[in-house]
Amino acid sequence: MNENAEHTRHFPEPPFREQPQPAPGLASEMDPLPDHGETSYTGTGRLIGKKALITGGDSGIGRAIAISFAREGADVAINYLPEEEEDARDVIAIIQSEGRIAVAIPGDIRNEEFCSELVNDAVSSLGGLDILINNAGRQQYCETLEDLTTESFDATFKTNVYAPFWITRAALAHLKAGAAIINTSSVQAFQPSAMLLDYAQTKACMAIFTKALAKQLGSRNIRVNAVAPGPYWTVLQPSGGQPQEKVKQFGKNAPLGRPGQPVEIAPLYVTLASDECSYASGQVWCSDGGTGTV
Ligand code: NAD
Ligand code: MG
Repeated sequence: MNENAEHTRHFPEPPFREQPQPAPGLASEMDPLPDHGETSYTGTGRLIGKKALITGGDSGIGRAIAISFAREGADVAINYLPEEEEDARDVIAIIQSEGRIAVAIPGDIRNEEFCSELVNDAVSSLGGLDILINNAGRQQYCETLEDLTTESFDATFKTNVYAPFWITRAALAHLKAGAAIINTSSVQAFQPSAMLLDYAQTKACMAIFTKALAKQLGSRNIRVNAVAPGPYWTVLQPSGGQPQEKVKQFGKNAPLGRPGQPVEIAPLYVTLASDECSYASGQVWCSDGGTGTV
């Protein structure tokens, strides 16, 4: 058996057990624990000296980005909600163990004023900003439009649409030529699930925000890309992102027959953030286990 086959085999497959948590949930309470690259990601110096701000950097895809960026030589600031402090501590410790600067900035990005403070804190603690990752997201399933409350709709849009606008606008005062912005969209932007009607709309917003902003910022040599994940094994799903029945079979319908692990998508963010990918901008890059959504 070749090395790649070995590698593919060790990723967990459904069925999983039911594991409800209140949102936003903790990655440390998932079973199986997601692989964020804690022991599996090896860096090769692709982001040496860069300074990155990652929202939702405590868990899931954001944690995998934070770990990979630190291992590639970047200093990293992460934002998360105060109730996620325990997950965030783990990430900060890993970044520091790589000898990189690690900055923890808890706070709720549904607040415009906080978004400005977040950027200012990150810039002053890191000593600048080269990479912005708008990755935080809210996903709460709801079966019918009649049951979708204005409060929930508003919270999803504030988190997934307004916050990236506020954070990016504040960051632009600091991003110089060669900087990169990467937004986390979703396959939901292209193939929405019935029960994710509000969430799917916000992820479509993210795709178009990316394309329009890339046109604005090209002349400043700032690149803007989006990543569209398919099913990834993160706490977003069991904490209200899917019904538990779907959590048990999560990823089964992907041609690879399993969910992706966060570490498997980190290399896309590394590549898009690195200077090597200097002509890629205004695009949505999909990683969905073979479905071919985009
Ligand atoms: P996750 O729960 O680990 O990460 C989401 C993070 O968003 C949380 O850790 C939290 O820190 C942050 N967040 C949510 N609301 C916030 C608020 N009001 N203020 C500050 N931070 C807030 O789950 P994940 O799957 O890694 O999610 C990361 C991104 O990936 C999200 O944008 C999500 O929509 C997207 N995504 C995930 C999947 C998947 O299958 N897991 C698929 C497509 C897209
Ligand atoms: Mg989290």
